[in-house]
Amino acid sequence: MTLLVMKFGGSSVADAEAMRRVADRVVAAHRAGNQVAVVVSAMGDTTDELLDLAAQIAPGTPPEREMDMLLSAGERISMALLAMAIQRLGVPAKSFTGAQAGMRTDTAHGRARLLDVQPQRVRATLDEGAVAIVAGFQGVSVDDDVTTLGRGGSDTTAVALAAALEADVCEIYTDVDGLYSADPRIVPTARRVTRLTIEETLEMAAHGAKILHLRAVEYARRFHVPLHVRSSFSDQEGTWILVGRPLTEDTMEEPIISGIAHDTSLGKVTAVGIPDRPGAAAAVVGAVSKAGVSIDMIVQNVSTSDAHTSDISFTIPEADGTTTVAAVRALQEQMGFADVLYTSHVGKLSLVGAGMRSNPSVASRLFQSLADAGVNIEMISTSEIRISVICDQADLTEAVRAVHSAFGLDADEEAVVYGGTGR
Ligand code: ADP
Ligand code: ASP
Ligand code: MG
Repeated sequence: MTLLVMKFGGSSVADAEAMRRVADRVVAAHRAGNQVAVVVSAMGDTTDELLDLAAQIAPGTPPEREMDMLLSAGERISMALLAMAIQRLGVPAKSFTGAQAGMRTDTAHGRARLLDVQPQRVRATLDEGAVAIVAGFQGVSVDDDVTTLGRGGSDTTAVALAAALEADVCEIYTDVDGLYSADPRIVPTARRVTRLTIEETLEMAAHGAKILHLRAVEYARRFHVPLHVRSSFSDQEGTWILVGRPLTEDTMEEPIISGIAHDTSLGKVTAVGIPDRPGAAAAVVGAVSKAGVSIDMIVQNVSTSDAHTSDISFTIPEADGTTTVAAVRALQEQMGFADVLYTSHVGKLSLVGAGMRSNPSVASRLFQSLADAGVNIEMISTSEIRISVICDQADLTEAVRAVHSAFGLDADEEAVVYGGTGR
């Protein structure tokens, strides 16, 4: 018997009608003879609304423990309503909180990491022939407090549950027909990718393609969980992300470039006029990492007018801007550098695809297409299967569209975005 984990995102369960549509789909899968475990997100924009409410009541930094109690409620509402909708269709169904489903985490509220997954109650429910529904994005800490896994974390719940249950596949149902060559909200002519390797998917997710939570993709890679991304609004075939399986002839024919990810959630910090001596970069980067901030991209230039100083620029999550600037400023006097500059108006474009290294024309075509579109490149970084550039955030949409066309990725038809806000 096939065991399916089906995960439905917020836009797929946004209202009662959507909830009933999801129930129909789950019941159809169950009646087709599968064991079905479901993971649900909070309805529509519930998580954002709860965050707004908390900000009105406790402006600044609300208590983390209570924030997790609050936010985890969004997913609980969905799971109970979906269980009712499925029962109405004559199929037994039971809902479980993250804690009941055995999602044990560390104590890092708001960004908890899974330590252990023991879904005995879910397994027993499936063995009874019922559908098990699990609240996404949450767990219980080793201190017995409710935790959440970070925004978009229901994908990670789904993959972790699929791994623990040894499910045959983890289906991620969302508001677009699969993973596209670019975000269809930015590039309407984006092309659906039928199959993608887990490494390419990781690069896409790590560099802003938020259709999949990065940690979910990492988890899928580690535990060999096959992912199938598709729409809950249509019956289109979606995108398969396969792990640890040989490429079939079909995948060999996929284009070298699989997609473009973009990210607008970064800020850029520059320490200006740093005396050029060994240890300078280590001191700056060390101070930032000590402040708990992860650096994305770094460049260092030796100044040509005065060979004894250099500038170091790096990008960080925009949310960490204030912390990072404070950490670098604290070094300014002691290291004797001139200034610390910060801008949150940066955007990152990442071109992802296997086989880039053996195709040097890829980089030149990328830079030429940006030049033709009048986009100035501020920083560049590369990996085996990715080239990323930082540019002005105002230029990012234009940049993504230009690069998409330059690599011949445009489809004849426009992609359908069925709902949601894409947040
Ligand atoms: P859910 O609520 O189902 O978790 P999300 O909003 O988190 O859905 O993710 C789906 C959204 O991801 C899409 O609506 C789309 O705007 C965005 N997205 C970003 N990059 C891509 C991409 N390469 N392919 C498809 N969708 C993408
Ligand atoms: N509801 C949470 C969020 O909006 C988790 C999720 O949807 O994956 O981030
Ligand atoms: Mg999501």
